[in-house]
Amino acid sequence: MLSTMQRHQLNVTTLLRHGATVHGRSEAVTWTGATARRTSYAATAARAARLAGALRALGVDGDQRVATLMWNQQEHLEAYLAVPAMGAVLHTLNLRLPADQLAHIARHAEDRVVIVSADLLPVLPAAPSIEHVVVVGAAELPSLPGVLVHDYEALLATAPERFDWPEPDEDSAAALCYTSGTTGDPKGVVYSHRSVYLHSMQVCLPEALGLSDADRALVVVPMFHAMAWGLPYAAFLAGSSLLLPGRYLQAAPLAAFIAAERPTTAGAVPTVWAALLAHLDAEGGDVSSLREVLVGGAACPPALMTGFEERHGVRVLAAWGMTETSPLGTVARPPQYARTAEQQWPYRNSAGRPPAGVRLRLTAEDGTVLPQDGVTVGELEVSGPWVTGSYHLVEAPDSFRDGWLRTGDLGTLTADGFLRLTDRAKDVIKSGGEWISSVELENQLMAHPAVREAAVIGVPDRRWDERPLAAVVLTEPVAPAELAVFLGERIARWQLPERWAVLAEIPKTGVGKFDKKELRARYRAGELD
Ligand code: ADP
Repeated sequence: MLSTMQRHQLNVTTLLRHGATVHGRSEAVTWTGATARRTSYAATAARAARLAGALRALGVDGDQRVATLMWNQQEHLEAYLAVPAMGAVLHTLNLRLPADQLAHIARHAEDRVVIVSADLLPVLPAAPSIEHVVVVGAAELPSLPGVLVHDYEALLATAPERFDWPEPDEDSAAALCYTSGTTGDPKGVVYSHRSVYLHSMQVCLPEALGLSDADRALVVVPMFHAMAWGLPYAAFLAGSSLLLPGRYLQAAPLAAFIAAERPTTAGAVPTVWAALLAHLDAEGGDVSSLREVLVGGAACPPALMTGFEERHGVRVLAAWGMTETSPLGTVARPPQYARTAEQQWPYRNSAGRPPAGVRLRLTAEDGTVLPQDGVTVGELEVSGPWVTGSYHLVEAPDSFRDGWLRTGDLGTLTADGFLRLTDRAKDVIKSGGEWISSVELENQLMAHPAVREAAVIGVPDRRWDERPLAAVVLTEPVAPAELAVFLGERIARWQLPERWAVLAEIPKTGVGKFDKKELRARYRAGELD
């Protein structure tokens, strides 16, 4: 029997229309350092219509790629909406990637237009496919070889007020994002309109972020990192206002933005929250508007959770995901049967459980599916309607098994779906046939009051194959021997690092995670001894 339901495409156009009308009075706020630029969703959608018209006039058609090289700012939001809704494909470029990688990605994606924030012109990649560069906020337009350069506002001013939005097929490409390359070369993930739509609904559910039109979501996670974790689209769906920090991502301006614009929720990687926590501890600040902050992209150190909660009254919510999973994979909300704080803690301090539609399993190296008993460690594999089934124009047979995405993450699963991650397969330290979790050592180290950051890597060892080297950033002088004593009270003695490096800063990847590839390279170059 066929259903009698109407057939509607789940697409970004629908999200745009909904946000523009039903939530037309919600606002996007871009921080400019001391003041805020505000635009209602109705006005944002009107500007998106002009942008779409302008891009069409530049010749953008079909599924051509329109790239962005911008901070989290109003114009980036306009591109997020206009480009997919007009049927083209939004490609978010990571402004922190090395020049050669960025150029490779722009070439690989065949970007035709790049919308760039004027202060990022120095990192604009060159690619033969790029015909137009649209500059946001330029005092004076540069001349660039081989491309036509336009001023964003001038383009919008001359574009028609209305755009006849198409209804993109829900299975067509909406956006393209490359992985941040923490452990390997960046690979392209292509989101469909349907995956964006379903993911946005999921982000809004209470078991995830529970967004409503009463919320003000601070999007610190860059809009080039896994689509800012879906927050912009989810906000248009739920009517939550969006707070966009622009290029003011350091702790002090973030604290000022929070105090001024009073977000209720926020998303960022642990290093950002750790810096904000240190700032709040030292200088104080008003974060009372935050009901919760979302931490993802890397393991959330328990000391970060307790620090925010006990000293600043802000609840921390951990989540796991990947560029490949749109990225919402699991969220660490305790189940209703964990009633007391003590019962809830192990759930909150896990990676969480998946939303409906996302399936998780663990496998052994030979592909055998392992039991979900909360003890057996295996590689996490994931499948679901917003999980990628391949990479853009790259064969990666090792990344998939029977239609499941292999994550490269190691961990355990309980019968009721809670995921506990031990480590990335590439980061776990293999010492004398036993595994040492680098994440566990880092979490324990960062619980020491004098340790601001800690990253642990495995380094070659003649006797044990590999041994841990701990790189730490200290807030006050402490001898490694003292840190070893502290660690020794918390972990098995054979796991204690013998090698230590005290650094001014742990190197970070383009999305702000500890860059262990770089740390290993420094060790090989003899710089960490
Ligand atoms: P990259 O792999 O280049 O860092 P992504 O930003 O897509 O790019 O990162 C996905 C990876 O981040 C996951 O495979 C996992 O290793 C790590 N990650 C994300 N969230 C968590 C978490 N809550 N706990 C531990 N690791 C996490």
